Amino acid sequence: MASVTEAEIRSILSTIAAPEAQGPGGNLIDRGMVQGLVLRDGHVGFTIEVDPALGDKLEPLRKMAEAAVMKLPGVLSVTAVLTAHKAPATGAAPQRPAAPGQKPGGAKALVPGVKHIIAIASGKGGVGKSTTATNLALAFTTLGLKVGLLDADIYGPSQPRLMGLSGRPESKDGKTLEPKQSFGVKVMSMGFLIEEDTPMIWRGPMVMSAITQLLREVNWGELDILVCDLPPGTGDAQLTMSQSVPLSGAVIVSTPQDIALLDAKKGLNMFRKVDVPVLGIIENMSYFSCPNCGHRSDIFAHGGAQREAVKFGVDFLGEIPLDIKIRETSDAGTPIVASEPTSPHSLAYGEIAAKIWNKLEKTPQRVAPRIVLK
Ligand code: ADP
Repeated sequence: MASVTEAEIRSILSTIAAPEAQGPGGNLIDRGMVQGLVLRDGHVGFTIEVDPALGDKLEPLRKMAEAAVMKLPGVLSVTAVLTAHKAPATGAAPQRPAAPGQKPGGAKALVPGVKHIIAIASGKGGVGKSTTATNLALAFTTLGLKVGLLDADIYGPSQPRLMGLSGRPESKDGKTLEPKQSFGVKVMSMGFLIEEDTPMIWRGPMVMSAITQLLREVNWGELDILVCDLPPGTGDAQLTMSQSVPLSGAVIVSTPQDIALLDAKKGLNMFRKVDVPVLGIIENMSYFSCPNCGHRSDIFAHGGAQREAVKFGVDFLGEIPLDIKIRETSDAGTPIVASEPTSPHSLAYGEIAAKIWNKLEKTPQRVAPRIVLK
């Protein structure tokens, strides 16, 4: 099959007129509205930068642009995202005018009403980062806290499935999205905004723009803690995010093998580089708990995380076994902490959540994100 070129995509997008409301004349390309065009194996992604005041009104334009590119031979999928700001070249969070009483551009202005934001991170994918984020968020509710869960894993948003949620989020004022609620947790995910199974291709500025919108343009209300499920790995996207979100701290999830391979250490170093306190490491799939007899087998070199945590100078927060119940309840959208709150695993998540909360309440709140210019 013929492969599509960037020039062809630009050419087809130049046939779409720029919205009148954004000034007379021109098309999406010559007005510079198409940014961050990426093309990989027939999958196309780009942002359309629009006037924030027009917001949702331009959804038909977004759809039209997607449909036009989709018609080109060799295109397998198209993802166009409307962004209300021009992402600065430094990758810093886009600014918007501060509301009365807020500091312009300050971290507090980013998410007013949210006391602590923590990131759940991992050195690589598949270690159970999202599962841990979900169950920890639920465990925080059992401590009586007001909890939000932000699925910042925009490459593979899994919180809608894990929390048993679907459909588009509502907006009461046409500007701010209402988070969805599940088991007492407010949830927002890119998974609510894109079609299921759409492969997402993102570049640095797009990632930032998407994440800051999920943070700021969502009506989180008053929260004690916002748990942020980061994309896996320690690449640029994760680094930029860790810099731009006013994180109170980060939790690293790893498996015993991952610890052995030093992937977790990369995560630690990343947060240290951007001055985000690492609250500790959780060892997931720590040992195998037999569903029939309850027998415990240390199939991986169990205990590695605890030893390595000491070596790295960070706290070991606890261990969660490899247990089919954790996977089954996650897949069913009824995470174990919600569906079996008194099970030993749920209590283990609860203990970890309590440790994290104690640490957060002892450390002073971070006021502003540190933006490192590269
Ligand atoms: P990540 O976010 O790191 O990519 P996920 O949370 O999506 O990882 O988990 C990957 C898979 O492992 C999922 O199928 C999940 O249900 C399963 N899983 C995660 N933690 C456990 C656990 N402790 N026991 C059993 N299965 C688990």
